[in-house]
Amino acid sequence: MKTLALLVNFHRYPSRELLWDGKTASERLTSLARSLGLETPVIEVGPFQDTTEYMEALVKACQGAEEVVLFGADAPYMREDVCSQLLSLHRRYRAQYTFADGFPSGLTPEVFHPVILPTLLDWAKKKPSPAGRESLFQLLSTDINRFDVETHLSPVDLRSRRLSLTADSARGVVLLRRVESWNSLPLREFLEKLEKMGSLVRTLPATLQVQVTNGVRQVPKWSPHLQFDPRALEAREFLARDQWNGLLDSMLSFAGDLTVMPAFWGEPSMHPQVRGLLVDALGKPGVTLCVETSGLGWNDDDLVLLSRESKGQLEFIVELDSLVPETYRRLRGEGFEEAMATTHRLIELFPGKVWPQTVRMSDNEEEMEGFYKYWTQKAGQVILQKHNHFGGRLPQLKPADLSPWARHPCWHAARDLAVFLDGTTVPCRDDFARTQVLGNAFSETPEVIWNRGSALFGLHLSENYPSVCRNCDEYYTFNY
Ligand code: SF4
Repeated sequence: MKTLALLVNFHRYPSRELLWDGKTASERLTSLARSLGLETPVIEVGPFQDTTEYMEALVKACQGAEEVVLFGADAPYMREDVCSQLLSLHRRYRAQYTFADGFPSGLTPEVFHPVILPTLLDWAKKKPSPAGRESLFQLLSTDINRFDVETHLSPVDLRSRRLSLTADSARGVVLLRRVESWNSLPLREFLEKLEKMGSLVRTLPATLQVQVTNGVRQVPKWSPHLQFDPRALEAREFLARDQWNGLLDSMLSFAGDLTVMPAFWGEPSMHPQVRGLLVDALGKPGVTLCVETSGLGWNDDDLVLLSRESKGQLEFIVELDSLVPETYRRLRGEGFEEAMATTHRLIELFPGKVWPQTVRMSDNEEEMEGFYKYWTQKAGQVILQKHNHFGGRLPQLKPADLSPWARHPCWHAARDLAVFLDGTTVPCRDDFARTQVLGNAFSETPEVIWNRGSALFGLHLSENYPSVCRNCDEYYTFNY
């Protein structure tokens, strides 16, 4: 049987030169392929713009092969024992696609017969999307029953930890360095150590919320904004452009890459230099921008220019809450027509990058299906956001409880930072009362600020929550 070992680069992060026990990831994976008895040369491909380009590259690279073992090229600690189990399973059942489930990403490959690729390429062309580590499985899931698929389950289910042992970001490198001395442990022991060590999920910040203005155009029913700033509808203070740039530069130098959300308790469209702020951010390598907005107050020329500059790095979440003018007015106030028009315009200018959002409340629960259908058809995607009662500071309006059966440490304390106009930095949007101040982002280094947050995360690990967190049910929500 002609087996091909394929190393796929999913990103451009400069991790190729990093050494892991004295070898690059590529060298380690090549040795692994040899140990597994894969005799054909190892081929390296990627990164790719989209799934079509990815599938086309696979079709080309896999010609003549009868079996392909696909490794992420940034995964230096792929486990030989799991790879071997996966291959045996694939061969025993003559599967067309075999994957592992429940392991952290980066420990296991995918195995497939190239016969599946023409179908996947067809599906990729019909629904273009960015190429990533999950693309092969996601494409297959379009109609998974058409293929013979085998699954190898992890003896310790680590899905909820979202650990990725891949050098695809500075966060990934930090995690890999923390666990590399455990690599030679037997599999179960290694996985149990990952499970027990809750602090592993907190590496470096991934999401940065920034207050670029303290003004808003609406205060929706689900917002506690007036509780801490009764002047929010009249407020007109703005973050200076040089402070914005300085903040992003210093945070990026620490975290490597970031999703920046400039709507932290403020409406970004109110900033007189919003176009400049967003263009500056888009010019910084490693930034993805996610703009949450009411959809009110945007200038069309600005949006057109931003669409030219965005390079797929600018996303919008438009807070609508309803498709029905009367409900909209009741929940948000005036502006329905403008918000709808802006949402349609954003979808035209930023295809695939716009999420119309509704907060799911008892007030609009009956409209959920209509909202979902309408915007899925127009935008391809929708966010049905859970209602947040801010730890009891607002009435509880959520129609269903989706929280996990057991509480875990908060994802926001693990991954986010939120910076107010004056630089005061807290872990999350919910701490609007500034009870967990980590420092000042304009006068202290990101490292100092971030490291202070490990004390709060430690409290979460020991289930000893400060009052702002105690009744908060945002802990299981995830930004980026
Ligand atoms: S539990 Fe709530 S208040 Fe505490 S860090 Fe998480 S999101 Fe913030």
